[in-house]
Amino acid sequence: MRLILLGPPGSGKGTQAQRLVHKHGIVQLSTGEMLRAAVAAGTPVGMQAKEIMSNGGLVPDEVVVGIISDRLDLPDARRGFILDGFPRTVPQAAALDELLKKKHLKLDAVVELRVNESALLERVETRAAETRARGEEVRIDDTPEVLTNRLAQYRALTEPLIHYYSEKRKLLTVDGMMTIEHVTREINRILAAIGAVEPKPVAAAPAKRAAGAARTGGGATAKKAAKTTKKAGKAGKPASKGTKKPSKAAKKPAKKTVKKAAKKTAKKPAKKVTKRRAKR
Ligand code: AMP
Repeated sequence: MRLILLGPPGSGKGTQAQRLVHKHGIVQLSTGEMLRAAVAAGTPVGMQAKEIMSNGGLVPDEVVVGIISDRLDLPDARRGFILDGFPRTVPQAAALDELLKKKHLKLDAVVELRVNESALLERVETRAAETRARGEEVRIDDTPEVLTNRLAQYRALTEPLIHYYSEKRKLLTVDGMMTIEHVTREINRILAAIGAVEPKPVAAAPAKRAAGAARTGGGATAKKAAKTTKKAGKAGKPASKGTKKPSKAAKKPAKKTVKKAAKKTAKKPAKKVTKRRAKR
C-alpha cells in the first residue's frame, strides 16, 4: 500500500501514520523527521534546512525530492509506505509522480485529514506539553508564532494539492476532528473500500463477499470516493462534521455481490458488512 497523508500541522498525520504502520507493516516516510535528523546530525542538508525550519518556511523542493527519492529505494519501502509531510507543493507532487513512474510504483490514495484551523494551535500546544512531560526536547517550530507561518505556508502552497489529487481521483477526505480512534477506523474503512487493503475478515462467507466486492469495485469505487471527496474537498473549507461523504463511498462497495456493488451507486451503504464489523 502506498499512501500520502495530507493535512495542516497538528492535523494528526504523524499519529495516524504510526497507526497505519503498525497495522499494515509499511514504513512511514516523514520528510519533517528526516530533516530534523539531518539538522541534528549537522549534515549539509541539515545545515541548509535548519534556519528555514525554525521559521516555519519550506525547504527547497529539490532537497526534499532528493531525500524522498533515495529513501524510496531502501528495501524497507518495498512493502509500501506512507508519505507524511511530503509532497507539500505542487512541484513536489509532480516530481513524486515522475519518481513513482520511473520506479514503476503506483500510489493507492491520498488521505486528507480535514481539521478546523482554530483547533490546531491547541493541538500543537498539547503536543509540545506532552513532549515536555516525556522529558523530550520540544520541536523549535511548535510555537504559536511559527505555527502561524506554517499554516500560512500550508494554505498557500500545500492546499492546492487537494485539487491536484482530487483531479487525479486519488483524494479521500477524512474528518480529522473526530477522536484519534475514529479517524483511524475511518481511514482503514475507506482504504478497504477502494481495495488498498484487505477488509478485516468477518465470518468466512460474508468476508469473502465483502473483500471481493471491495476489490472488484476498486477502480470504480476509487473514482466514486474521489468524486465524493472532490465535493467535500473544496480547498480552504475546514470540516465541521463527520466524514459522511467519504464514508458513504467507503461503505457502498462492500455491499453484497460485485454486480450489485457495481450497479448501485452512492445511495446504499453496506449495512450488512459494516454492522458485522461493528459488532466484533
Ligand atoms: P513536519 O514535521 O512535517 O511538520 O515538517 C517540519 C518542517 O520541515 C516544515 O515546517 C518544513 O520546514 C520542513 N519540511 C518537511 N517536509 C517538507 C517538504 N515536503 N517540503 C519542504 N519543507 C518540508
